[in-house]
Amino acid sequence: MKKTIFVLTIFLVCSTGQLLAQHAATYLTAEPPENKTMKHEETEFYTPVPPEVKGVANFETPPPDAIILFDGKNLDKWVSSANGGAAQWTVSNGVLTVKNHAGAIRTKQSFGDCQLHIEWRTPTPAKGDGQGRGNSGIFLQSQYELQVLDSYKAETYSNGQAGSIYKQYPPLANACLPPGQWQSYDIFYKAPVFHKDGSLENPASITVVQNGILVQNNAAIKGKTLYVGHPWYEAHGMLPLELQDHGNPVSYRNIWIREIK
Ligand code: MG
Repeated sequence: MKKTIFVLTIFLVCSTGQLLAQHAATYLTAEPPENKTMKHEETEFYTPVPPEVKGVANFETPPPDAIILFDGKNLDKWVSSANGGAAQWTVSNGVLTVKNHAGAIRTKQSFGDCQLHIEWRTPTPAKGDGQGRGNSGIFLQSQYELQVLDSYKAETYSNGQAGSIYKQYPPLANACLPPGQWQSYDIFYKAPVFHKDGSLENPASITVVQNGILVQNNAAIKGKTLYVGHPWYEAHGMLPLELQDHGNPVSYRNIWIREIK
């Protein structure tokens, strides 16, 4: 009996591993059917836990050719993702803050390859735990989430903490500063390339420096960053940058982008 269970376990582990490897290697370009019956837990892992490396935030002045997306004054460059109307988040004292239930906001302009700088701060005192603790997110091309979360001495699944490419890659280190402190992301992003028939030519890739610490090193994005199911690619061209409303009053400032052509 013990032997049967052992063999069965090995078989299950191998087939799950093969399935994941297959997904990683083939870059699905249609939604896999098993996504319909999967549970969110199936794409979350808690080990390894990224080592803590204390970073120093980078509050850099925008370079001369940067497009300033938020300079502390207004949301002129942004709209509501839901309806394209005015973005409803709060702007106060030079800071942009998620307004609960206002929904995600996106840039009016679409982007492809880019260098993006963004500063963010999770609420203090910290409230909630896990994915409910200072959750927002930066969606490159409205598809691929670089997680924003209070991951300072706070537990969640490794591939869902701050600095992760959500449910795909945990950060290489936990560079988080305490809640209430400003932090920085410097993001170097290469958009995916699709053939004319919609199949994938090259996956998107991303390098991220959080508070001066490398947390993603040219990671090959596997497709849309989904809460449930395996990632997959849907062909697209240039698309807006999007910021997530996850119901937590996370703040942003000094957002600028350089188009790489
Ligand atoms: Mg998020």
